[in-house]
Amino acid sequence: MKGGAPALAVGVAETLPAVSSRLVITGRQGPSDCGPVRVKRGDRVHAGQVLFGPEPGDETAGSVPVHSPVSGKVVDVQPALGPDGDMAPAVTVEADDLGERVEPLARPWEPWQPGQWPVEELRRFLRMAGVDGAPCPVQGSLYERLERGLGGGTLVVNAVGCEPGLPSDMLEAATYPTATLLGAAALGRAAGAGRVLLAVHRGDPADEALTGALAEQPQLGTGPVPVEIVRLADVDWFWVPVLLAREALAVAGLRRRGSRSGEARPMMVESAATAVAAGEALVEGWPVTERLVTISARGRLRAVRVPIGTPVASLLQGHDDGQTGATPVLVLVGGPLQGAALPDLQLPVTKSVSAITAMPPAMHFRPEAACVRCGRCVEACPAGLLPLYIARAAAAGQMAEARALGARDCLECGACTVLCPSYRPLLQWIRLAKYGRARRPGQGGGL
Ligand code: SF4
Ligand code: SF4
Repeated sequence: MKGGAPALAVGVAETLPAVSSRLVITGRQGPSDCGPVRVKRGDRVHAGQVLFGPEPGDETAGSVPVHSPVSGKVVDVQPALGPDGDMAPAVTVEADDLGERVEPLARPWEPWQPGQWPVEELRRFLRMAGVDGAPCPVQGSLYERLERGLGGGTLVVNAVGCEPGLPSDMLEAATYPTATLLGAAALGRAAGAGRVLLAVHRGDPADEALTGALAEQPQLGTGPVPVEIVRLADVDWFWVPVLLAREALAVAGLRRRGSRSGEARPMMVESAATAVAAGEALVEGWPVTERLVTISARGRLRAVRVPIGTPVASLLQGHDDGQTGATPVLVLVGGPLQGAALPDLQLPVTKSVSAITAMPPAMHFRPEAACVRCGRCVEACPAGLLPLYIARAAAAGQMAEARALGARDCLECGACTVLCPSYRPLLQWIRLAKYGRARRPGQGGGL
């Protein structure tokens, strides 16, 4: 850390930098285009070197580059399966022990003085550092959201989580509180926000860590884009993503179906993981080459930080199903609500993989029963949809009907599915109607 500033990490998550020497880095890391491949087989690469990215001199193009996490040799350049189950261009790097690194990215301004950051330059810097956000079904990619701007509105940074049992954003904020604060201020500045709210659960490790970090960096709480911590206490945290989803609808100018209100409010929701990536890039001048991933299997939860391109199988070493000692058969990318089954354990971690959930199939495949018309899915839906009818149409192959019923407006929060007493796979059917398949490429699961 430069200039006597505090350390970014406080050690909540483990770092596993070398669980695999062979990394498969795909050219589709999230919702944004990564640009064409910039290396060829046999090349030596340094850590931080661009593997996929825009043509030199064309940095204003929409792509978000991908950088090598390690120094080593490019041993393959050919399409490979990504964790979303789709083929994507990919570069395989065999790491060496030399640890050669490119020079840090140039930052023509002082990272700890947010008021000095020029907005256009800041957006360009974040893009070139490979910072990307979770896809939002209604608001588009991170850079579409930033460029659309908030016009003095509010940026909410979610340090609570996206679903029960998936605390990666809380752990990101608890492990890297200063980076979270700085990144939140930077994203707020890049989006033209008037203020930034950091949403935490009262008293959890993220609350404690962020409160301490804000006391050490008080200028982030009083600058042109002040960062405030908002403590959620009496809200069942299952409903947090649902509430955030409602706000996202409001930002997009969409109204909840059936609602008479729904006026657009200038608000945007980003994850703590995106804020950490932005904060680290600003302080270290280092692109995004690692990812914090939570691994949960049969009641055990670990948070590890690994290079992108690490095979999921290597993260599951030491995890068994708790019954037979075998590696769990069913592995989800994401959590139990929004996750999708991983078709092959050798598939690599990407920037948008925040969680691996492993379980015996019996835990996941509950017998599905007939709809009892209880209405819980309708009551829960933050988008005001009728999930039972959309799913029924999709299951009958009537995709046009399912879309007419609003499948494309689904925020993929998973609330309908988890509440259904008949265990109907509503979200899975709705995704099928929405995308023509179970999961959109790069889809990391909503908010
Ligand atoms: S996943 Fe279900 S509850 Fe959530 S927005 Fe979609 S239909 Fe509504
Ligand atoms: S929650 Fe399940 S059982 Fe109840 S109405 Fe919706 S689909 Fe039917």
